[in-house]
Amino acid sequence: MKPIDELTELFKTFPSVGPRQAKRFVYHLLTTQKDTSTRIATLIKTIRENTVTCTTCQRFFPKQNHGYTTCEECRDTQRDPSILAIVPRDTDRDAIEKSKTFKGYYFVLGGTVPILGEHPEKRIRLPLLLRTITQHAKNGLKELIIAMDANPEGDHTAEYLVKTLQPITAEYALITTVLGRGFSTGTELEYADPETIQNALLNRSKITS
Ligand SMILES: [Zn+2]
Repeated sequence: MKPIDELTELFKTFPSVGPRQAKRFVYHLLTTQKDTSTRIATLIKTIRENTVTCTTCQRFFPKQNHGYTTCEECRDTQRDPSILAIVPRDTDRDAIEKSKTFKGYYFVLGGTVPILGEHPEKRIRLPLLLRTITQHAKNGLKELIIAMDANPEGDHTAEYLVKTLQPITAEYALITTVLGRGFSTGTELEYADPETIQNALLNRSKITS
């Protein structure tokens, strides 16, 4: 395969990138300043070795020499220990953080549970979630906010979590809430604007399992 076609095929595997956009990326690399394309190539080559996953919230954070296994946010004692937001991906955590409304801690599930998918427990980081909830419960956790996309798969994931987490929420007397529907149907968390996320968080509703 010719390099242009091969790179186009690879860009097509990126989320939300279609064939035309993939080809535009390739031509951009060929026509942009050489330093820019070199910088992109170097970052692509090194990003995995320079990034680690936080052992508490599971989000990606830059590897530094201090040797911490948890991210800055999880080590920040100024955050509110009574709330933990469970989000599908890092991008969703970023969107909530940008809304500047939420001051609790996060957990990144690593995906969602497909409606007809088998082995839902393998689609998300369930054992790690249970471990993180237990850690936070011993440190003043009162509420779990299940913050999913406002679409059928998001709703299904929330239902699955409410059911699966029932024993642990009962054990530690935790309240479970979901985002309010100021957040209209079909909205993906990562694309929601900060104001919409603010309203969805303020109008969150309690779930009884
Ligand atoms: Zn963390």
